[in-house]
Amino acid sequence: MTRPPFSAAVLAAAAAVLLAQSVPGGAPRAPRGPALPPVPAGVRNVVLCIADGAGFAHFAAAERRAGHGRPWDRFPVRLAVGTAPAGAGPTDSAAAATALATGVKTRRGALGVSPAGAYLPNLLERAEAAGRATGIVTSVAPDDATPAAFLGHAPHRSEGARVLADALRHGAVDAIFGAGHPEFDEAGRPLRRPGPYGPAGGRRTFEDLRAGRLAAADADGDGVPDPWTFVETSSRILALGEGPAPKRVFALAPAAKSLPAGPATGVPRLAEMVRAALNVIDGDPEGFVLVVEGGAVDGASHRGQTERMLAEMAEFAAAVEAVLAWRDASPERAAATLVVVTADHETGGLSEADLTWSTDRHTDAPVPLFAAGPGAEEIRARATGRDPRRGPLLDNAALGAFLNRLVAPRFPPLH
Ligand SMILES: [Zn+2]
Repeated sequence: MTRPPFSAAVLAAAAAVLLAQSVPGGAPRAPRGPALPPVPAGVRNVVLCIADGAGFAHFAAAERRAGHGRPWDRFPVRLAVGTAPAGAGPTDSAAAATALATGVKTRRGALGVSPAGAYLPNLLERAEAAGRATGIVTSVAPDDATPAAFLGHAPHRSEGARVLADALRHGAVDAIFGAGHPEFDEAGRPLRRPGPYGPAGGRRTFEDLRAGRLAAADADGDGVPDPWTFVETSSRILALGEGPAPKRVFALAPAAKSLPAGPATGVPRLAEMVRAALNVIDGDPEGFVLVVEGGAVDGASHRGQTERMLAEMAEFAAAVEAVLAWRDASPERAAATLVVVTADHETGGLSEADLTWSTDRHTDAPVPLFAAGPGAEEIRARATGRDPRRGPLLDNAALGAFLNRLVAPRFPPLH
């Protein structure tokens, strides 16, 4: 085995270089172009919720279906986000999630690297370098393109399992929650023969995790390795929602492909996974960054399955409600937590009027963004473009750059 390209030591070195490049006194360099309100200080917690493949019509349909609206309806900042990748044509989840994670546009298929393949530090790495806790929760497999773009770096999305394995062995993320357990089918029934091990970072990583012998990195920088607690049963995942929690948790829900969109199977739902992940990471005095992905909206939209898409949007909305319930449990949390709800790209060319699909692929249509909490108005100020239909338009890489600055203000601007 060759040495992993981006080990904890390499990351630490990259952080040192970034810090050394900052101007004397640690103040950020002034941005080029029109003056923007500064990135606010004192934002302790950032929650970025991504509905994979959801455009304006998906969100509007989800709002109508709920009758009483959806949690993001109450967010004061509402914008359109442009999703174009580097290069022509509509984006994919890898390029779009990389823009959100790193603040840099890249080509389709790239995970956390530039079009030329250069390593791009990401939101979770910067948050960790700044002393914050970090987590990612997805309703699909954690080696899927969107989570993988936040977990690591690879020239192509087909390397998601390797990216996940590197994150588990060498990274500093504290909570990784997803679906895709190799020993269960989509309804949560045990399989006679195991399915793909990619969602567990490959077979060896899975076996090492299960045997408790996975050599994990020092996540909190005290010089002592911080091993993972591997959680793979529904009851144990649900139990993580309250009370004392282990320091680092990798939770793989016992279902293939994705979490259930409904209560039938007994497998934890996205909102329950979010509650558990929040309980794992919310004790850090420096705050945390949590990424939440409703990952199966995209697949339903590729297949033109309107009811399944609506069910997946309902699971995503319930997950956002879980975030808001956590936030609103205390005035301190409410004052210090930025919540952003958006999508990586639109899938299906869904029409708002009659919910008909115009394609089985991704489109270049802008996607909505909803933001609430400290920093939300500063996001609005960065919407410097204009969409003829949707109004103020924020670039996805500008959003990523803003979030990166927000969680690690001692780093210089990205560009
Ligand atoms: Zn897709």
